[in-house]
Amino acid sequence: MKNKGFTTQLVHADRLLNLPENGAVHQATNNSVLFEFKDAQGIVDVFQGKKAGHVYGRSSTGSAAALQNILNHLEGGVGAITFATGMAAITSTMLSLFKAGDHIIVSHFLFGNTRSFAETMQTLGIELSFVDVTDVRNIEQAYQKNTKAVYLETIANPVTQVADLPCIGRYCQEKGLLFIVDSTMTPPNMFDAKSVLASITISSLTKYVSGHGNVLGGAVVDTGLFDWSKFDNILDIYRGADTTLWGLTQMRKRGLRDMGATLSPQSCHEISIGLETLVLRTDKTCDNALRIASYLHNHPKVTAVYYPGLADHPQHFLAREYFKGYGGILSFDLIDEIDPIAFLNALELVICATHLGDTRTLALPVASTIYFESSQQERDEMGINDNMIRMSVGIEDSDDLVADFEQAFGKF
Ligand SMILES: *Cc1c(COP(=O)(O)O)cnc(C)c1O
Repeated sequence: MKNKGFTTQLVHADRLLNLPENGAVHQATNNSVLFEFKDAQGIVDVFQGKKAGHVYGRSSTGSAAALQNILNHLEGGVGAITFATGMAAITSTMLSLFKAGDHIIVSHFLFGNTRSFAETMQTLGIELSFVDVTDVRNIEQAYQKNTKAVYLETIANPVTQVADLPCIGRYCQEKGLLFIVDSTMTPPNMFDAKSVLASITISSLTKYVSGHGNVLGGAVVDTGLFDWSKFDNILDIYRGADTTLWGLTQMRKRGLRDMGATLSPQSCHEISIGLETLVLRTDKTCDNALRIASYLHNHPKVTAVYYPGLADHPQHFLAREYFKGYGGILSFDLIDEIDPIAFLNALELVICATHLGDTRTLALPVASTIYFESSQQERDEMGINDNMIRMSVGIEDSDDLVADFEQAFGKF
């Protein structure tokens, strides 16, 4: 399978990777929570990790294993774990790998709920430094003796800062730091996380991977590039013979099993169906986003456009080198005379909604919604202006999207 194109591998993955029964081309969705062992020794062996198998639906099921196989295959990793939501993937990973007294260097430009969860980690005694990750020198400056990891997002939302991925990856490798990359904005057809030496990728499957706004999910993939034998937070019971599996084992047991945010078999099925058209959807989304960004960039009623595909974006060249396409998120600032709420109400096709990575084009006012809990100073530091609108561009016909903006601007 490895030598085939991305989508060829994807649409044949169930048939070839997961070998469903009776010639089915899809892995069956099986809702059983319990699993019978004809010989009681079998359940003992699975509990003790001597044999592979499922014992209880919270820890693993055939449906979850099938989706994990595909996600891992697409990233070229050593294993994947799925979770009920993207936030569950993040919280379970962080709480199972880190403890009080650890220090983590975290991007200043984070998804709002991740930022809010970071504050919860601080209350548990995990030390964090928030830095501007567009320049590796800020990471170097924040490094301390107890630094264990760097955590960032590939393209930040809503201002679309692109992290200095290759330099940070090299720095993490040099220092033996775990490099955790939230790659929700750049699914594996757009970005090879291993090329920047990421240790772990985390993503919200709710967004581009499933794509249709009808299912929640999250995943963690271990790329196999991190040496877990140097990570002293791994508990003795998870230090098996194969060091490459230490991290995944601890995340699976302490994260998924104990914290319990399991992805349901039905959701696994829906996500894998959405995933089949990932390339078709993201290619169209990226084309549409670039067209709208260029349109807005030249518009007299717009003061700024934030999109990595524009030549004047500060990390345009980095994005061009490391991503295939520039993503579907773009933000823009309206001139002061236009109220963002009134402008959103004037759009007829574009839907006012939070969420991103959908087939439909969505927009929302940023400061008063997703950053409502942040102080003015925090918003200033993140570059979020009061009259900023964030868009998640969909797969509609781009002429219709541009026409919708034309008619909306016409009202002001
Ligand atoms: C949406 C999102 C999440 C959270 O995912 P959910 O599936 O909504 O829990 C995490 N990180 C990023 C970058 C996201 O966009």
